Amino acid sequence: MEQQPSLEQIFGSYTAWEAKEGTWFLNFMNGSENMYLLEGADRALLIDTGYGAGNLRKFVEKLTDKPLVVVNTHFHPDHAAGNGEFEEVGMSGGWSLDAPSVTSSGAVPFDLTKLPCPGYKKVILKDGDTIDLGGGRVIEVWEVKPAHCNSSLFFLDRKERMLFTGDEYECQQTIMFDNSNNPDAPYDGKERLDNLKENALRILGEADAFDWVLPNHNGYPLTKSYVEAYVGLVDAIYAGTAVIEEKLNHPYIEMDPKARELCRVRFGRVSIFMKKEEVQKVYGK
Ligand SMILES: [Zn+2]
Repeated sequence: MEQQPSLEQIFGSYTAWEAKEGTWFLNFMNGSENMYLLEGADRALLIDTGYGAGNLRKFVEKLTDKPLVVVNTHFHPDHAAGNGEFEEVGMSGGWSLDAPSVTSSGAVPFDLTKLPCPGYKKVILKDGDTIDLGGGRVIEVWEVKPAHCNSSLFFLDRKERMLFTGDEYECQQTIMFDNSNNPDAPYDGKERLDNLKENALRILGEADAFDWVLPNHNGYPLTKSYVEAYVGLVDAIYAGTAVIEEKLNHPYIEMDPKARELCRVRFGRVSIFMKKEEVQKVYGK
């Protein structure tokens, strides 16, 4: 009989390679999701903790023998559910708004209370904070305006010239509908679009500091001109020149009946998923 893969195999099968000396790219979910491990002389920074399968720490400790500092790009289930494998995790103050996406029933297929540190310490990171990994590798924290979600942080590594952007600028498309699973979390489509543009302009304003823009889904890296194209997309929505596609062309998201309320909005090389209703409110205005 054919055996179905276990949940741990689906959500907790990791691969990794050293993309640059001391910088590991970690993959899971058949390569569609990324995490990152940055080694300094004294410490190593793990960016994101996956779905909570419970086996990430062991995997990462095979890659580095440095003490780990752990952070979340944002508080979504595929980035933060594994936090309970670690004693302490750094995150945005907006984490609580997005927390139901991780903690509401059925959000993740694992019992997160069974992880070794379910009551792990949350360290709130602020814009301009730094994480010193030793040997001159100092990681800067950027607080990001809510676009993809309410809890995004970017991490700038000036030494190795990399910027980590979570899900705010994905390869393939960026998800811009409300995904907090929290009816009390604020959501305004226009504000989200304005923030998407503003965040992109901040990235472009610091463009001399990095070569790679590293997202967390569907591959990497992004070029700076790809990030710039999101500025054009927002402008094109307001100008009424962006293309609205009814078909998402994304089988996984289309499995959700709520996907019928969504559309793909495209301009040039980039696109977003958003509620049709929210796009219509601002399209051509
Ligand atoms: Zn996300």
